[in-house]
Amino acid sequence: MVYYLWKIKHRRFFSSPSCVTNFAALYLLIIHKNPSITVSNKNLISHYFGENVFGPEAQKKYLSKTAVKAIADAQREGHPISAELASEVASGMKDWALNKGCTHYTHWFQPLRGTTAEKHDSFFEPVATDKGVEKFSGKALVQQEPDASSFPSGGIRNTFEARGYTAWDPSSPAFIMEKAGAKTLCIPTIFVSYTGEALDYKAPLLKAIALIRKASTDVCKYFDPKVSDCTISLGVEQEYFLVDEAHFHQRPDLMLAGRTLVGSSPAKGQQLEDHYFGSIPNRVLAFMADFEEASHKLGIPLRTRHNEVAPAQFECAPQFEEANLAVDHNSLLMDVMESVADKHGLKVLFHEKPFKGINGSGKHNNWSIITNTGVNVLSPGADPQNNLQFLTFFINTIKAVYDHADLLRASIATAANDHRLGANEAPPAIVSVFVGDTLEHVLETFEGTKTTAKAGKGNASIKIANIPEILLDNTDRNRTSPFAFTGNKFEFRAVGSSDNCASAMTVLNTIVADQLIKFKKDVDAALKAKKGTKTEAAITTVLQGYLKDSKKVLFGGNGYSEAWVKEAKSRGLNNIKTTPRALEAYISKSSTDLFVKNGIFSHKELEARTEIRFENYILRLQIEGRLINEMVQNHIVPAAINYQKRLADNVQTLLQIGQKKETLKAQNEIISEISSLVNKLHEANKAMTAERAKANKIEDAHKRAIAYCEKVKPLFDDIREYSDALESMIDDNEWPFPKYRDLLSGCR
Ligand code: ADP
Ligand code: MG
Repeated sequence: MVYYLWKIKHRRFFSSPSCVTNFAALYLLIIHKNPSITVSNKNLISHYFGENVFGPEAQKKYLSKTAVKAIADAQREGHPISAELASEVASGMKDWALNKGCTHYTHWFQPLRGTTAEKHDSFFEPVATDKGVEKFSGKALVQQEPDASSFPSGGIRNTFEARGYTAWDPSSPAFIMEKAGAKTLCIPTIFVSYTGEALDYKAPLLKAIALIRKASTDVCKYFDPKVSDCTISLGVEQEYFLVDEAHFHQRPDLMLAGRTLVGSSPAKGQQLEDHYFGSIPNRVLAFMADFEEASHKLGIPLRTRHNEVAPAQFECAPQFEEANLAVDHNSLLMDVMESVADKHGLKVLFHEKPFKGINGSGKHNNWSIITNTGVNVLSPGADPQNNLQFLTFFINTIKAVYDHADLLRASIATAANDHRLGANEAPPAIVSVFVGDTLEHVLETFEGTKTTAKAGKGNASIKIANIPEILLDNTDRNRTSPFAFTGNKFEFRAVGSSDNCASAMTVLNTIVADQLIKFKKDVDAALKAKKGTKTEAAITTVLQGYLKDSKKVLFGGNGYSEAWVKEAKSRGLNNIKTTPRALEAYISKSSTDLFVKNGIFSHKELEARTEIRFENYILRLQIEGRLINEMVQNHIVPAAINYQKRLADNVQTLLQIGQKKETLKAQNEIISEISSLVNKLHEANKAMTAERAKANKIEDAHKRAIAYCEKVKPLFDDIREYSDALESMIDDNEWPFPKYRDLLSGCR
């Protein structure tokens, strides 16, 4: 606070036009730093958790037993709900929503452009010029036909054929979104084209979940015939940055691209790692408590909050849930966070790499399979060596990741995530699996390459009186792995923080399901081939075979090191660094076979989706290119020239009053250096614009994406280098944007 007051006192705010906005920004920042922002709700979370959700509690009040059961069956077994019951559900849902103050309803869906979509319709219908009623039919609940011609469809739906359908997903409960005092009933839906192709993230995810549920149940029956279903569990950790909105509005790059396109490193970044798990700043804590409250009311089971490694970076995590619900909740959470941040004068940056040289953000997907008898099949227990069910799911997952590493890489490929993978403290673009020392030994023993299993870690004696012994996990932590086993679940850590994780989860569930189906076939074939073979023996032999090949994907060392890049190459593991190259895996023969065979995507859908992702990639880079151009021409070059002019005027005046030329060395050097940098900046900017124009002429989206990636993007880095050099050279007062120093401390 004192620092900002000092700035106001000492800065000549009105010396240039941008100083007016500078002043306004600082003023706003000080208002927001008012310590009176505190948490409003002091109730226990359990008192209001889920109050804005049409879940079992609300259903009991507003629906008949038959309707409640129909929804539960639809959730568990995927049974459709009859038109008659849908009408009853709609009527109950409407009463509940109206009692809660809703005026509108919307089908809430996740189109392929990344965020969620909604089109609000009023319950109200006029019946005369001065009379109206609130209505909501079963049909309006089950299906809508939004005019969706401008959602991405990859050519599946031409703009003249604007019809797309949203269809109710009863497995994810309806909820009330409260924003700016307006309350809207939101009904989670899938989004498909007139001809039935999926145009969203949810539809294929639901198919992949159904596939893996069946495949795992079939495999579980080898171990326990009582298992009749499995649930896919997912816990999504969400990382994010916070900046003050006053700073945000002074950075065109943050506003329009979500990341800084220029900006030199601050003197103190994350070198000391003093932010990680540090005490949460008051202003941030107030924001967290507020968005948690709104999320809890929506039934999002948030439980964890902490500072992350980078300054101004934070994380939250819910308790795991059924995967489809977890994905919906993560999309909803991001929306809630953005909306609550507004009230606190903050902006949430979900971008994977908002700041150069500083850690990026991810969305760690913790994933497992749990039987309806309550067993987590990825829980190794006290004796993993002899836990054949655990080894079955463990090894099959490892094999699936090994066989489809490129597809997993493709599932998380975006322009934004390219900046993070392989950069500061982020998993590399090489897909490998970390299992930890103990389990690596277990696998070696199981395969027969080692004779004795290494005992689990057991208890650690810390030898301090009064402190009980602690129980150690069977896996250490390895923050550098893109896909890590963490105790009783796999954690897909390479997923980008701004991405809809349905894309990654559709691929992961499909590849593991496909592998489990293959496993069952192999075991059954082995049992059939030789009469009298014990099931356990057959399973062991099949798994040993799988392990032989796929163990190449296991890696326990430092994934951030150069040595790993070399080693991975010698093991034949791919290191696909860019999105346009990574996405090719979606349309390879093996992926197409996999998806089509399992009914997840048709050929047409795959092609359309890949096309959309190429287009998204290009659009992102196009926006960034234009922004860079604008920032350079309209802000950076003028600022540099202004400062240079002041120096030149100063030199001239000093010469006039008789100063010797030799005493003006510093000014003259800076003047020349500014000229040289401005020239380089200008040339690089021209070159970038020319490359963009060339790329834009390429018809084929894939080739155009490659041109943007390989010809245009490298020039962004050159421009940034010259701009950052200028930033560190010219007068602080002249620099047209808040610097990293300000951005990274603004949320405090
Ligand atoms: P860390 O940061 O140490 O990895 P967090 O507590 O931030 O751990 O997040 C771990 C996440 O994993 C939580 O969402 C948690 O609910 C989830 N999780 C725990 N067990 C399982 C499981 N069996 N299946 C899926 N997710 C799980
Ligand atoms: Mg975590």
